[in-house]
Amino acid sequence: MPDVSAYLMKENAEQKAYIENTLKDPYNAYCVDCKEEPSTHFNVGFGIWICTNCAKLHVQETSERVKPAYGEIWDLHTLKVAHYGGNQQWHDYLEEYKSSNKVKPSWRYKNGNSKWYKRNLQMRAYGVAFSETKPPKNFKETMNASAQILDKVSNKTDAFFR
Ligand SMILES: [Zn+2]
Repeated sequence: MPDVSAYLMKENAEQKAYIENTLKDPYNAYCVDCKEEPSTHFNVGFGIWICTNCAKLHVQETSERVKPAYGEIWDLHTLKVAHYGGNQQWHDYLEEYKSSNKVKPSWRYKNGNSKWYKRNLQMRAYGVAFSETKPPKNFKETMNASAQILDKVSNKTDAFFR
């Protein structure tokens, strides 16, 4: 294999300034996972800012593309994910599902709620409409959702047996 690292393209001044500015946001400034270390990397799947140590875990646990904040060019899609995403949105979403602290990082990025968040963010960044229903937040919502499905099924069977 040739030394592909030699092909790396440095970011331009505008991109650097944009990321510097994005990292001035108090939520983005610190790692969304450990909340202790300053952000140095970006998880392109979930649109979140993380520290160097957590970045290594993210590569292993989420298999998402993880980019350093500085030193290389970002493509348009990644810039859009950064624009629509961010640590506060992800944090608020986890709060909604009450899974911000209870759930281990390895599971936090793999469960159904997280997958919905990621797909929604990615579709927004691609400019594609996303119509998948948001996952239920709690037991009550889960029961309501299944009751609605059962309702539809029983309506169908009623019509069938009429
Ligand atoms: Zn961290």
